[in-house]
Amino acid sequence: MDEFKKVKILITGGAGFIGSHVVRLFVDKYPEYDIFNLDALTYAGNLENLIDVEDKENYHFLKVDINDANKVDSIFEKYKFDKIIHLAAESHVDRSIKDPLAFVRTNVIGTMNLLNAANKIWKDNLQGKLFYHISTDEVYGTLGEEGLFAETTSYAPNSPYSASKASSDHFVRAYGETYDLPYIISNCSNNYGPNQFPEKLIPLFINNIIEEKPLPVYGNGDYTRDWLYVIDHAIAVDKVFHKGKNNETYNIGGINEWKNINLVKLLCRIMDAKLNRAEGSSAQLISFVKDRPGHDKRYAIDASKIGKQLGWKPSVTFEDGLEKTIDWYLDNEDWLKNVTSGKYQEYYTKQYATN
Ligand code: NAD
Repeated sequence: MDEFKKVKILITGGAGFIGSHVVRLFVDKYPEYDIFNLDALTYAGNLENLIDVEDKENYHFLKVDINDANKVDSIFEKYKFDKIIHLAAESHVDRSIKDPLAFVRTNVIGTMNLLNAANKIWKDNLQGKLFYHISTDEVYGTLGEEGLFAETTSYAPNSPYSASKASSDHFVRAYGETYDLPYIISNCSNNYGPNQFPEKLIPLFINNIIEEKPLPVYGNGDYTRDWLYVIDHAIAVDKVFHKGKNNETYNIGGINEWKNINLVKLLCRIMDAKLNRAEGSSAQLISFVKDRPGHDKRYAIDASKIGKQLGWKPSVTFEDGLEKTIDWYLDNEDWLKNVTSGKYQEYYTKQYATN
């Protein structure tokens, strides 16, 4: 007999950065759901991110690699999940340039394994089922000085990471068209906030400023990104999951564009004040390094669909979100030390040695 009486929701990649915030929100807000966090615990997955929810009665952890089709099938047969929020992925563009196949394996084939498993279990009764796929604005490629990415913008991915995410988006949509699998896709801009692995710009630079190490800015720092506080993304995921229309796509963004160099200077100013260092001392660590190949110039999101249809907008200003983020890293130095030891050092040396 099924020991789980409630709606069973599988969240993949729940030990990672965004996934951990989504898991926490769902576990806390919806005691009527059983939340299954499926994660392979790669270098980017860390159960420390969920220490505050691990004892909750509606939280369950499954250590599974989505590349293992048999294992994925067997857990679907065992638990018969009702809905899926799929976040598990290789997520770092620089790593995708060094090892593109790893991104095809997890992001494309791993997603296919989940789609196939869901399809098998759900095909006789699609009522109440949902495959919600979390994706990125990077699938749209790059913008010039003007314009925004809308849900109707054509895909034109430029990095192996964005190509693998674009491919997985296409497969999700194709399973909807071909097998009637109920799905939703959301494409979000750059996230920042607590628990982000310090290979990504904001936590990398916070860590380097603490350690007084150089701040490697690609090219001339002219690249523009839209930034969204991770908890606002988790709230958007909740809205899309509960109120979004099946077989639709939603763009999610912070309406908050920053050139990298200006963002780094702002970060330096806040860090100087937090660390009681002389004004301008962190900015002296800025070091321009050889550009990333295939670097997209500008990303910016038109988030009006989710705003108008689902009533979502970011709740935190960038300045407040950044301050909360910096405070979190300063208050959680042990977390930062744990994730930046061992293998991280190898990665860091390789990544920046070639620049
Ligand atoms: P992350 O790298 O922090 O976390 C990824 C998680 O997936 C980790 O817990 C990792 O252990 C797990 N994982 C990786 N390979 C796996 C496998 N083969 N099997 C099972 N688990 C595996 O990533 P993130 O930044 O939290 O991103 C989550 C999702 O959101 C990704 O799909 C990403 O493409 C998307 N996204 C991220 C951003 C961003 O700014 N970080 C923006 C838009 C969309």
